[in-house]
Amino acid sequence: MVSAIILAAGSGSRMKSDKAKQFIEINGKPLMYYSIRVFDASVVDEIILVTRGQDIDYVRKEIVEKYGFNKVRKVIAGGKERFESVSKGLKVCDKRNKIVMIHDAARPCVTNRMILDSISGARRYKACTVAMPVKDTIKIVNEEGFGVETPDRNTVYQIQTPQTFDRKLLEEAYDRLRISGDRDITDDTMIVERYMDVQSKMIEGSYENFKVTTPEDIRLAELFL
Ligand code: C5P
Repeated sequence: MVSAIILAAGSGSRMKSDKAKQFIEINGKPLMYYSIRVFDASVVDEIILVTRGQDIDYVRKEIVEKYGFNKVRKVIAGGKERFESVSKGLKVCDKRNKIVMIHDAARPCVTNRMILDSISGARRYKACTVAMPVKDTIKIVNEEGFGVETPDRNTVYQIQTPQTFDRKLLEEAYDRLRISGDRDITDDTMIVERYMDVQSKMIEGSYENFKVTTPEDIRLAELFL
């Protein structure tokens, strides 16, 4: 049994738009609609939608009810940082579910194949993430803006979502994170790595599964969708 936490509580400041990023229309539908649609039609048993407090009613009416998504069990308010939004979602997941998936609503091109491969990956390895090898050479840069190191490109991946875990493992990792008080967290694989010493298996994503972040990404998403 699988819970999916879909994150849409960001402010989307890099989008430079009046409208919050998750509601920007892509081919006539709000950005967050697309990933909910894929999860709703998949084998997951429940979806927890995490949004900004002021958007909860709007999301319930204009997204969940309007498009008839029937696996959305809860719409809850997120936190200031992404990991705080995940933490709130984790607290309300059905405790009977063994697997939990975390997905950015800002990645509308997620597919059912990625969801299925991720669930198998989590059953086998306890922690996995959708990812792709980088295409460009990557440089570690010093404070003066000079490249100081060039990691072997074959070992460098860009990390996407869904990220999928054994639920108890992720809960334990979040308990330890809370105790630590750390705030330099950018995703969930980093949390299980740091606090549980568990490595995440890379599952093949796609270059289309990118995160809609800046204005030119809207046109790209329109093309892919
Ligand atoms: O900010 P970033 O692009 O990393 O956000 C990735 C995803 O996490 C987005 O879907 C965003 O809505 C979500 N998020 C969240 N709560 C936050 C910050 C980001 O749910 N406090």
